[in-house]
Amino acid sequence: MSAFTYRGGILHAETVPLDRLAAECGTPCWVYSSAALERRYLDFAAAFAGLNATICYALKANGNQAVIATLARLGAGADIVSEGELRRALAAGVPATKIVFAGVGKTAAEMAAALDAGILQFNVESESELRQLSALAASRDRRAPVALRINPDVDARTHAKITTGKSENKFGIDIARAEEVARLAAGLPGIDLKGIAVHIGSQLAEIDPFRDAFARAADVARRLIAQGHRLARLDFGGGLGVPYRGEALTGGNNVADAAPGLADYVAAVRAALRDLDVQLVLEPGRYLVAEAGILLARVIYMKDGRAKRFAIVDAAMNDLLRPALYEAYHPIRPVIEPEPDTAPLLTDVVGPVCETGDVIAVDRTLPPLKDGDLIAIFMAGAYGSVMSSTYNARPLAPEIMVKDDRFEIVRPRQTYDQLIGLDRLPQWLEETVAGPVRRVRR
Ligand SMILES: *Cc1c(COP(=O)(O)O)cnc(C)c1O
Repeated sequence: MSAFTYRGGILHAETVPLDRLAAECGTPCWVYSSAALERRYLDFAAAFAGLNATICYALKANGNQAVIATLARLGAGADIVSEGELRRALAAGVPATKIVFAGVGKTAAEMAAALDAGILQFNVESESELRQLSALAASRDRRAPVALRINPDVDARTHAKITTGKSENKFGIDIARAEEVARLAAGLPGIDLKGIAVHIGSQLAEIDPFRDAFARAADVARRLIAQGHRLARLDFGGGLGVPYRGEALTGGNNVADAAPGLADYVAAVRAALRDLDVQLVLEPGRYLVAEAGILLARVIYMKDGRAKRFAIVDAAMNDLLRPALYEAYHPIRPVIEPEPDTAPLLTDVVGPVCETGDVIAVDRTLPPLKDGDLIAIFMAGAYGSVMSSTYNARPLAPEIMVKDDRFEIVRPRQTYDQLIGLDRLPQWLEETVAGPVRRVRR
């Protein structure tokens, strides 16, 4: 059941009415349900019970401290892709021993920080990275725990911008070279080869690509073990999709967007593992947080163009980039429940940003909206706020977490002073401008 439901004709987050929340916090704002986060994590963890699995939440999906802390309290680790995410994970209480570091371009400084923190595993994606990491670890008299991320050359059949496991993608080590690179790893003084990792993309709608990729990764692990490598871990990445057009939200039968079930996903993992006695690492991002968040917005103006009816709302592509970037679909509901017999109208929901691509929804059947109405943009908990920018000098929207009938601002709205105040004037312009912008103190 969704955490966002109508109660007495008003859309609620858990038991908080969203009109009240909007009045107190302003719009646009992100609203997260802690119950939804917890339920999702616990379901996921329960599905892997008995498999010696460490669940490392991919916090690039949503890096808010309150979100990470909610999951960490339940036992989640973290999958990170930068030093910033390392710091976010540690600050939110994720133990270093449950952190895996992914990414094709980890810098020496980032790897040093992760080594010093004592993380569980580096997922290494190239020989250059392997040598760099070895040198850093050796200089500390340490051996870095490493999984080789292989590129299995499997088509994830998801959006081209979020597929990562094809040979032409920048990610991973070509599967054909896995044994050679493992030999190199075994000979380097600062490397402790612990496992094999694979991650083929995001928002996967089918199980078959997972099955192929897991099987290939497990085969590589079996070969390496047979050759004498002592592998203790298999990391099967993230990527499990969610039903953006799912039945729960559209009341419909949209099979085209059906996401795979958790049970099928677990079955694919089990099938690949078979006899292998290893620790399993999983890196779900979207699956844990997408449904737990909405973007709450207000209609500024309705506008009837010659060809289209527009709802111009106060959330835009700088807040939620996914529709502009991936033509992603997000369900939309008005906060005040429409009468059951209301005839819907074809509407484009757009933001105020000066770009034609600034769309939230195109040709959507929505109940008639009017100026000032509140809308909720669903399934916005993953890759929402984290991808926001301040384009058009629009301050970052606040994030709010709900628990039962309580809500708290877990990141305030950025102020205009904060927005402008990061800029600095060079000395030769200093006298000409008054305001929050100051010259860099040298
Ligand atoms: C993005 C990413 C994830 C999480 O992907 P989701 O689709 O959000 O589950 C996991 N692992 C790696 C290496 C990633 O890059």
